[in-house]
Amino acid sequence: MSIPTLGIIGGGQLGSMLAIAANKLKIKTIIFCNDIDAPAQKFSNEFICSQYDNQNKINEFIDKVDIVTYEFENIPYETLNNINKIKPVLPKPSINRIIQHRLAEKDFINKLNIKTTRYVSIEKSSEINSVEDLLPGLLKTVTLGYDGKGQYLIKNLKDLETIKIDFSKSYILEKLVKLKKEISIIITRFGNQKYEIYEPIENIHKEQILINSKIPADINDKILQKSKLWAMQISEELKYIGTLCVEFFIDRNDNLYVNEIAPRVHNSGHLTINAYNISQFENHIRAVCKLKQIPLKKISNAKMTNIIGNQIINYRNKKFAENQFFFDYLKKEIKDKRKMGHLTTLYN
Ligand code: ADP
Ligand code: MG
Repeated sequence: MSIPTLGIIGGGQLGSMLAIAANKLKIKTIIFCNDIDAPAQKFSNEFICSQYDNQNKINEFIDKVDIVTYEFENIPYETLNNINKIKPVLPKPSINRIIQHRLAEKDFINKLNIKTTRYVSIEKSSEINSVEDLLPGLLKTVTLGYDGKGQYLIKNLKDLETIKIDFSKSYILEKLVKLKKEISIIITRFGNQKYEIYEPIENIHKEQILINSKIPADINDKILQKSKLWAMQISEELKYIGTLCVEFFIDRNDNLYVNEIAPRVHNSGHLTINAYNISQFENHIRAVCKLKQIPLKKISNAKMTNIIGNQIINYRNKKFAENQFFFDYLKKEIKDKRKMGHLTTLYN
C-alpha cells in the first residue's frame, strides 16, 4: 500500500504530537485548524487555516488527504460527517457525536452496565429544586466544556441565588463523587478484539485541570482489572478505531465510576512517549492508517507534570537531567490556566 496522507483536525499540542508521531512513520500530515497560530503547523507538512464550517476550505482539505482524524472532540458533527462521505474519518463521526454530548455519553456508558456518578438533564434553574439529593453536585454544560470550563459547583439550593448561570445553554447535573483518586486508561483499538492497552495512569487535578499523571497508579488489583475491562468494553461497543481515553473516579469506598471518555489521544497519556516502546500518538496513527500493530512494552515508570500559564518561562531556561523530558508546546501567547508544556520524568 502506498503511504497515506493524514489530515488532522485541530492544531494544538495533541495535533503537534500526532504530527510528530506520523512524521516518524513517514506519513505526511495536513493540519486543519481555525487558529492562525496553531502550534501543530510547525510539525506538519501543510497547514490549512479555516473555520470548521467553511466548505471551500474543507473541500481543499478533503482533496489533499487520504484519511482524516482529529485531536479534540468539539468539532461540529456535520463537518466530520460530510468529510466522512468522501474520505474516511476515524474515529467515526457517530462516535464523536455521542461523546461530545455529556448526557448521550453517560447514557451510553450506563447501557453497558458500567457505573457513572448519578446525573440528570437540567434546562432551567427550578429543575434543580426537585433533585436536591444530587447536591452537592457539578452543573456542567452538556457540550463544549474542557479543563473544567462551563462547570459550576452547586453545594446547596441557596447557591442558586448567588451563582450566575447562563440558562440559554443545556446542562447536566452530576452528583459530586467523594474522590479518593482519579485514574485513566488509554487504549488503542485496531479492529475486532485487537487492542493495545496501557496500564492505568493515576491523575491529580487542581481546579479541574490535570496537573500530574503517573505510572504505576497506586490502586488495588480489582480496580486495575475492572478499569481495563471497562475501557475494552467501551471501545469494542463503539467499534472504535484509534486511541481512546477513559477517565475514572475512585471514591473513598473504592467504588469505580467512569467519569468521561475522550475519543482521542489524551493529556494523561503524554508519559507514554517516554515510558513505552510505542506512544499513544504513534498507536493512534498506526490504527487509523492501518499500519502494523506492535505489542506494547513498558520501558520505565514515569511521572508527568503539566506546565500551566507563566510557569513555562522558568522551564524554558532550565537544564534537565537525563531522565527528564521537557516539551514546550510553542504556543504564541501565555495565558492563565493554559497548558503550555509538560515535563516527563522516568524513574525506577
Ligand atoms: P472536562 O471535560 O473539563 O475534563 P470533567 O468532567 O472531566 O470535565 O471534569 C474535570 C475534573 O473535575 C475531573 O477530572 C474531576 O477532578 C472533577 N470532577 C468532575 N466531575 C466530578 C464529579 N461528579 N465528582 C467529583 N469530581 C468531579
Ligand atoms: Mg475530563
